[in-house]
Amino acid sequence: MNTSTTTPSLTDSTIPLLQRTALWPNESLASALERLRQLNFYTHRNLLSTVGRERLAALNIEDKLDQPARLETFQQLANLTHLTLDELYAASNQRFAEVVTPLEQDSQKMPWLDNVLRPRLEPRWAHQHLRSSAAAQFCPRCLQATAYHRLNWVPRAVAICLDHLCLLADHCPRCGKHITVVEVVNQHCFKCQADLRHTPQVSILRDKRGIQSQQVIQSWFKVANSPDEVIAVCHFPSSLSCVLYPLLCLIAQQLLKGQAEWPNLPRPLNDLATSIKVIIKPHQRLTSTQAYHLYQAAFTGLRNWPNGLRQLLNAYRDCDNTNARSPSRQSYLCRMQYDWLRSDWQTSPLAFAQQDFLDYVLKRGLPLMPSVMDHLQDVPWFIERAGLWTQGQTSRLLDLSPTDLHRFYSYGSLTNCLIPHTRTREPRFKQAEVLAVKQRWNTGWSLKDVISWLRVPPTDVLRLVEIGLLPIDGVWVGDDEQGLFNPQIVKDFFAQIVARLKPWPDAWCDLISMSRAVAEVDWLGVDLAVLVQSVLAERVLGHQRSPQIESLYHIYFSQAAIFKLPDQIYAARGWIAGVKFAYEYGFPAALVHDWEAAGSIKSQLSFGSHCYFDQQQLKELAAKHGFLSPVVQPSRKRRT
Ligand SMILES: [Zn+2]
Ligand SMILES: [Zn+2]
Repeated sequence: MNTSTTTPSLTDSTIPLLQRTALWPNESLASALERLRQLNFYTHRNLLSTVGRERLAALNIEDKLDQPARLETFQQLANLTHLTLDELYAASNQRFAEVVTPLEQDSQKMPWLDNVLRPRLEPRWAHQHLRSSAAAQFCPRCLQATAYHRLNWVPRAVAICLDHLCLLADHCPRCGKHITVVEVVNQHCFKCQADLRHTPQVSILRDKRGIQSQQVIQSWFKVANSPDEVIAVCHFPSSLSCVLYPLLCLIAQQLLKGQAEWPNLPRPLNDLATSIKVIIKPHQRLTSTQAYHLYQAAFTGLRNWPNGLRQLLNAYRDCDNTNARSPSRQSYLCRMQYDWLRSDWQTSPLAFAQQDFLDYVLKRGLPLMPSVMDHLQDVPWFIERAGLWTQGQTSRLLDLSPTDLHRFYSYGSLTNCLIPHTRTREPRFKQAEVLAVKQRWNTGWSLKDVISWLRVPPTDVLRLVEIGLLPIDGVWVGDDEQGLFNPQIVKDFFAQIVARLKPWPDAWCDLISMSRAVAEVDWLGVDLAVLVQSVLAERVLGHQRSPQIESLYHIYFSQAAIFKLPDQIYAARGWIAGVKFAYEYGFPAALVHDWEAAGSIKSQLSFGSHCYFDQQQLKELAAKHGFLSPVVQPSRKRRT
């Protein structure tokens, strides 16, 4: 072993310390090591840790003597101090591992003697939940009694001395600097020499609820006795500190995050009308005073679970008497879902907390955040409580393909089934609404459903019914939800039309859309229903732009064919436009009007000045006036 020449023989790292001491009640390991250093007259403060490092280096172990995390280090400490391994473990921060390690994490274990495993504290949890030796806190009156550093001052959530009912101090009363454990043991600030025992005390003697909260919190860390009579009246959701402490931290974290919008902490719930002005800046380490108020406020959310939590959340939304109600606070509560519901607690003993929080969100009618829904969408209790289904689940229930379901919810009759603010790509449906639709569909599709399927306005659907293309069961009484249509017939009808459509032509063509076609010939009584009828009767060719179409409006026609269509349709009934007849027979169109005005002939259909007449009657009348047969028009002659 390499013992440096500069190391005095007194500190030979292989031998135990000459002077030893027992641990004092609740004494921290760092405190005991500092006292041992003094007892053994090691003048240099780092000497003991140097000794420790050398001992551990000889064993190829990387660890710290004052923050041991391995059995071998504890064994070296035991060898050095002659304290037992159990005493040393109980004095170290390792004793807090069980309560500060999140339940959902696979906590690391420390191999101990006799093949036993002990909880091992990970540095990140230590950093988050425990004060470091460089920023200690202390009770001045405890120091007056005996000068050493107590274990119950280590957790960040601990803020008072339960013996003296005062707030712990966490800085030098004179120069204000942070106080180290070594300074606590020495009772003096090393910078300004202030006597820490004379730090002014802040009594919390009258704050019964504050004391209660600290009694319970300190008992979770096993640095105070369990206050059974307090616990009996608190009605916590669990008796386990490993369940209650993470919840407390979560509530505290939410209170901190919400401070920007509500810069006061809620008092215990009986006094919620007023609040405590403890402004805590983001990323700031809490002072003892701030920790006291923060954890006390958070504690109220754990009492009388889940009512306490609900009251706390209500307070966050409504009970700010000093300011006008801030709309941003609502959004804050929405964002809180992210932290609360996205924790991986679904299968842990903490799952109940998520369920109760979700109940609150739902009862309050707050929108569920999409990321939360994604996270929980397969968790059975979430589906049950939130009453939501995914697209797949909804498709199966309604017996529709996802594509067909999309027809209904994108703009159609199932839009009401979607939850507000749902994602377009992964929509979520309200179970109750979907079940109501399924029930409704037992009697058939309504006008609204058919509109969704054909993607046309109601007037067009009613026209399709009117001209006999779409049969209905019963009589429509003006109710959009009336189950009139047989779904299969509607589906077949649409499929039949699609089957008639021709692909988009390769060569240039004068194709116009359905809406354009309707605009061109609607005035001649040819609307969408008649156009569809004409496609089915193959009187006109319909084209589709893509292999799949979703709407009757996605049919295209040749413009020339559309212009000819009205004449063609009426010709099938034996009618002809008066203008056209006059042109073909070579007399002025006005003559037809004269005959009509004289009562010689009656138009079959009249669109303003454009009228259709029975062709046979017109022929007879024309013959009477000397127009015996059609004449070849000069313009056509020139072209041929
Ligand atoms: Zn004290
Ligand atoms: Zn000082």
